[in-house]
Amino acid sequence: MNKRIIILGAGESGTGAAVLAKVKGFDVFVSDMSLIKDHYKEILNRYNIEWEEGKHTPELILNADEVVKSPGIPEKAPIIQALREKNIPIISEIEFAGRYTKAKMVCITGSNGKTTTTLLTYHILKNAGLNVGLAGNVGKSLALQVATENYDYYVIELSSFQLDNMYDFKANIAILLNITPDHLDRYEYNMQNYIDAKFRITRNQTHDDVFIYWNDDPIINKELKQHPLKARLFPFAEEKEDGVKAYKENHNIIIDAPDESFTITEDDLSLPGRHNLFNSMAASISAKVLDIKKEDIRAALSDFQGVEHRLEKVARIRGVQYINDSKATNVNSCWYALESMRTPVVLILGGKDKGNDYTEIERLVKNKVKAIICLGVDNRKLHTFFDGKIPTITDASSMKEAVNKAYELSQPGDTVLLSPCCASFDLFKSYEDRGDQFKECVRNL
Ligand code: ADP
Repeated sequence: MNKRIIILGAGESGTGAAVLAKVKGFDVFVSDMSLIKDHYKEILNRYNIEWEEGKHTPELILNADEVVKSPGIPEKAPIIQALREKNIPIISEIEFAGRYTKAKMVCITGSNGKTTTTLLTYHILKNAGLNVGLAGNVGKSLALQVATENYDYYVIELSSFQLDNMYDFKANIAILLNITPDHLDRYEYNMQNYIDAKFRITRNQTHDDVFIYWNDDPIINKELKQHPLKARLFPFAEEKEDGVKAYKENHNIIIDAPDESFTITEDDLSLPGRHNLFNSMAASISAKVLDIKKEDIRAALSDFQGVEHRLEKVARIRGVQYINDSKATNVNSCWYALESMRTPVVLILGGKDKGNDYTEIERLVKNKVKAIICLGVDNRKLHTFFDGKIPTITDASSMKEAVNKAYELSQPGDTVLLSPCCASFDLFKSYEDRGDQFKECVRNL
């Protein structure tokens, strides 16, 4: 009898996994607790794949030989618990897709900077002429591409949730950008569980594989000392140190690759901010490992268009620069945004707090921020922390109100920065919705 594969969740990854399973001749059934988007229904129907929506029917699911779970479904969901009780294997879409391709995998994780570094790496490799696909949290599902395209390389953004259910998958090149507390609600509020999830990116790597990581990150370093890896290590850092393969010197990035060393001038990078120096180092090392020429790396780093909602320049109005960093959903990413500011800042902050500790940005706020506009349903925590520390702190209950207040509070030469430190779900559908509303309100000024 045919192996029965159940796909839980019919978003980008689930639909892709269903198509690949069908193409490989399995008996496939897709189940989603929510309503499935029309676009995905069309794909499932086109491939004659059975599906249900708005429910998980146990009789149709608990007879699975194997389950592919979407990263959004938490381990404690009842259907997952029921599958665990029956010892039915549960894997991620990336794990499933990895079985059916021989392509080289460049995989990127970290608490912050994944999307930027993934797109940057993809941009370098593609511009250098490699036959490369983009997958994971950005781009199309890996499984769908494995089913329908024929790439030699993939650049894949992996969240900790995607790494959770990976077992035999191997990253030929793994990049770990940083580890700071995030998503702890999904890891039993145990930081070590979250660290372990991130380090799964190195699972199955051997001495032929490459691990690129941020050497200045204390958590990564401690973990490496306790659990040495087999892969070749390519650390990058702020300053030159023994063994470091990329670092900053004056206003340059130095890439110290095995066969050649070369310089990239900071002014030639299209992306602003110190964090993007690190993202550029990680992307450049991976490109160098894949033998991309330094001229191609330099050219790609300087013409990269940036990523929407990440320190995205929106407009300059009356001498004030407006920047959309709506994707800054935790305190650490806001720190990097403020760190990159060279003018007085009017900061729009707030939203759904994830247990934030604002001490991390206190110094930067005191030095650079002239006014805070609190944009959230409940702004009490922001007031408790920042009241009295900066000249002006005020509230807004809609993006329009926030942008209008920012306009009034700013002067030529200032920057208005939306970098909220918080999730968006109290007032907006998503961080994209929040960023889009910001841009629209700015353009209507
Ligand atoms: P992710 O995909 O990990 O959420 P993004 O590339 O979307 O990361 O960036 C999210 C936020 O984090 C942005 O606001 C950006 O300014 C900030 N950021 C980007 N790279 C880094 C980094 N290396 N370290 C810290 N913060 C970063």
